[in-house]
Amino acid sequence: MTLNRQVLFQVTMPALLVALAMFGTSLLGIRSINRLQADQDKIASEHVRSLEAAQDLETELRHIRFHSFVYVVEMTPERWAKVARDQAAFERILGAIRARVGADEEQRKVLDAIEAGYTRYRLELESAIRSPVGPAHRDYMVWVDAHPIRHIVAPCEQLLALNRRAMQETVEESARRGRRASAWMVWLGAIGSFGGLIGGFGVAWGLSRSITRLSVQLRDVHAHLEQEVGSLRLTAEGGNLQRMERQVGTILERVREVVAQLQRQECEALRAEQLAAVGQLAASIAHEVRNPLTSIKLLVGAALTGHCPRGLSETDLQVIHNEVGRLERKVQSLLDFARPLEFGSAPHDIAEVVRQVLDLVRERLALHSVRLTVDLPPGPVAAELDADQFKGVLVNLVFNALDAMPAGGALGVRLARGADGAVRLTVEDTGPGIDAKVADRLFTPFFSTKPTGTGLGLSVSRRIVQAHGGTLTAVNRAAGGACFTITLPGGRMGADADAPRGG
Ligand code: ADP
Repeated sequence: MTLNRQVLFQVTMPALLVALAMFGTSLLGIRSINRLQADQDKIASEHVRSLEAAQDLETELRHIRFHSFVYVVEMTPERWAKVARDQAAFERILGAIRARVGADEEQRKVLDAIEAGYTRYRLELESAIRSPVGPAHRDYMVWVDAHPIRHIVAPCEQLLALNRRAMQETVEESARRGRRASAWMVWLGAIGSFGGLIGGFGVAWGLSRSITRLSVQLRDVHAHLEQEVGSLRLTAEGGNLQRMERQVGTILERVREVVAQLQRQECEALRAEQLAAVGQLAASIAHEVRNPLTSIKLLVGAALTGHCPRGLSETDLQVIHNEVGRLERKVQSLLDFARPLEFGSAPHDIAEVVRQVLDLVRERLALHSVRLTVDLPPGPVAAELDADQFKGVLVNLVFNALDAMPAGGALGVRLARGADGAVRLTVEDTGPGIDAKVADRLFTPFFSTKPTGTGLGLSVSRRIVQAHGGTLTAVNRAAGGACFTITLPGGRMGADADAPRGG
């Protein structure tokens, strides 16, 4: 399968975009899950530390209580050292907890209560030291029961409970966030799959539309080519791109064949048109040739008659020479016209070219009772021309005019250079004019209203004129009859290029 790059791009791009979007979203998801995890870990370790600190505080409390009881009974410096160490440790842990608690109102209150209890314990311990109670003292047990540590025990346990609860909440929150992240990942997967599905469907839909459009176009082409290419089969079904590609290849090949065939046919038609014109010319030339031949025959016949042929006088020979020259020119014109089409323009005096053509057809016009009016500028009129081709165009216009006036009439040929420098040659007749019904098909190849017409004259003529950079148009004259106008860009004929000579 040979998909070109553009198709490949069109097909894979949406899938690639969806995949990229999915990849990006997954990365974001993983990043936020990681961040969530890190946050949770941080919070959890904070709580663990707080919990440990609360437990340490409670442990120190027990130490203080024990060593304080013992000190009150036996006030030795060693025992006081233990109490003092316990107190310092308690205060340090309490300070650390306070620093960690921050803005937690509940814990702050508890810490305040611990501190208040601790202060009371210190005061009561000092008063106990001032008036010591020994083990023998009967109030010792009372004092022990009323030991100020009790003011600290309850808030310490409260602190521990608070931290345990915070730990529990952290664990639960962590579990909740984990569940939420899993749900997001599931959603992401579902949306990605759905997006991929929609994207794929969109691509398939777009491709199928393009293929359908292409199929319709192929069938159109097929319909147009059917007459020319009978063997062409189209089976573009099911959106099979490979098969379609093969069919496009086949059609292209056939189109090339048809174009080549048409070009061949056009060449043949041009040749046929040319030969038809040659035939018509030959008919007129045959008539013209007969006149000089008759003169020559009469002169030679007169010279040969009698018992002693008198020979030809110098005047006779001159006449024969002129007539032979005329014959030669006619034959040459015919040969020139019959030559295959080859385009090669050069600066020419178009007035002279027009004169030569009219000389060729003059006899035939007279034979059909057509009066010729020629209006040429006195001097040369320069134009870039392929003279042979141009003569063919003019002959065709004159013969068409002749055909339009079977019972005779008037033919006007006028050459003029316009103010814009363009050369205008008009050929007008007094025939019925151009039928309005056929006016728009006049220059269409093979269009003819004549029983034996080829319908190529005007189309070929227009092509030739256009190849000269000019135009060939047709209108009906107000006074009746048709008027064909050739407009050519003006040219220069070397040193003696003509200047516009009015009209
Ligand atoms: P053809 O002469 O073989 O018919 P052309 O292409 O030369 O082919 O002319 C096409 C058609 O144009 C003619 O059949 C005719 O109907 C029309 N046409 C050409 N010249 C004239 C004219 N001078 N007057 C009226 N109709 C004309």
